[in-house]
Amino acid sequence: MNKFDILIIGSGPGGYRTAEHAARKGLTVAVFEKDQPGGTCLNSGCIPTKTLCKHAEVADTVREAAQYGVKLENAAFDIDMQAVVARKEEVTEKLRQGIEQLMAMPGITFVRGEARFTANKTVVCNGEEYTADNIIIASGSSAKVLPVEGAQLNGVITSTELLCLDHVPHSLCIIGAGVIGMEFASIYRSFGCEVTVVEFLKECLPALDSDIAKRLRKQLEQRGVQFALQSGVTKIEQLEGNALRVHYQKKGKDAFADAELVLMATGRAANVGSLGLENTEIAYTKAGITVDENMQTNVPGVYAIGDVNGKQMLAHAATFQGFRAVNHIVGHADRILFNIVPAAIFTHPEVGSVGLSEDQCKEQGMAYKCRKGYYRSNGKAHAGNATEGMIKLMTDENGRILGCHLYGENAAFIAQEVAVLMNFGATLSQLGEIVHTHPTLSEILQDMAFMP
Ligand code: FAD
Repeated sequence: MNKFDILIIGSGPGGYRTAEHAARKGLTVAVFEKDQPGGTCLNSGCIPTKTLCKHAEVADTVREAAQYGVKLENAAFDIDMQAVVARKEEVTEKLRQGIEQLMAMPGITFVRGEARFTANKTVVCNGEEYTADNIIIASGSSAKVLPVEGAQLNGVITSTELLCLDHVPHSLCIIGAGVIGMEFASIYRSFGCEVTVVEFLKECLPALDSDIAKRLRKQLEQRGVQFALQSGVTKIEQLEGNALRVHYQKKGKDAFADAELVLMATGRAANVGSLGLENTEIAYTKAGITVDENMQTNVPGVYAIGDVNGKQMLAHAATFQGFRAVNHIVGHADRILFNIVPAAIFTHPEVGSVGLSEDQCKEQGMAYKCRKGYYRSNGKAHAGNATEGMIKLMTDENGRILGCHLYGENAAFIAQEVAVLMNFGATLSQLGEIVHTHPTLSEILQDMAFMP
């Protein structure tokens, strides 16, 4: 029996960062990984999509070159997807090597293979038994596939396959207008693909401020992305040749969208199936493994962090939940605030958010004030041809910042600035006293401090 202080199942941003955190505290850790180090985030999530975003941005820049007096001799261009995918592989490989080095640091034993619980505090991997007083489950999530006829047809793919295409499809139908669907709509539109998004709800990005979501959708529509909202997919059909037809019902009427490929972007499900949880007393639901504020399950000493607990499916949330679990194990009371987790959507234009949206303030019946700042009022936005954008900042009756939701260039950075302010309980008047660099887009935020 191999004995460690902590066993960690999974080496995504939850698992590997948590292992490092624990090892730095002098604990011995075994990390199990059945696939590639880095998890979804590095291998088929955040990093590969953001690499593709860069390629999309370059394509857009080339398209707009003439507006900036840059004359191209031959304005027509093609996207070489094999080169795009090769660069994506290069980026992820470099980062994977970094994680492999990290997993070789003193205190960490990295075990390649699938770990399965055989009891509450015991797992088996590659036929060997491992035990620890503390086990952290960080097994992540997988794409959900809509249970409709035709979902298994060739050409109906998930984000993982879409990241590995060797050509740009002439058309793509995306089922689901959540974060993943919207990012791919933006990327593939920039690559010149005809994109249709079919969404069951009445607006894209239901977790986002509805005002911002609507404005983002309109921007994407202006760029040529088509949306079928309030549309429930009923089946997918193979047509002659390679085309697929996505049938849906919109307000009781039948309609369809034809496309070369169909992306299932209908959410992600916690990876609980292969963990052997049936051999334990660990409680879980469809949404994931149930945890308390310390990420501890109902079995003392067993924790679940990241996508597998279904709380916030974000890479940085997974990391900080892992820090919380380790801090709890060593008896350190931290002040990580899980209600202040900034998030970004890397569409063009970008979206950023942190804290409460205006819709949430209303739903909770709060006394709040919402101020709106516009990119068109900012010098850097004009210089950078980025005047499309808006910031919504919510404050309470004392001027304390409750949340910020925005879209426009560098939205993620601006949301991060607000996250820092919120962490220190800052008020609007304190924001007004912080000197901001000129010219920057952050000045939009600072100017909002002086609004009545
Ligand atoms: P994962 O990263 O999923 O890692 C879990 C690991 O556990 C995997 O490597 C898996 O192989 C391993 N594993 C599972 N079961 C076992 C077992 N029994 N034994 C051994 N190993 C096991 N989030 C952001 O914050 N920003 C973004 O820009 C962003 N973009 C995304 C884009 C896409 C297309 C997708 C799909 C996701 C994106 N996400 C983004 C979400 C982000 O990837 C996840 O929230 C994050 O990876 C969750 O981290 P995790 O450590 O919980 O799990």
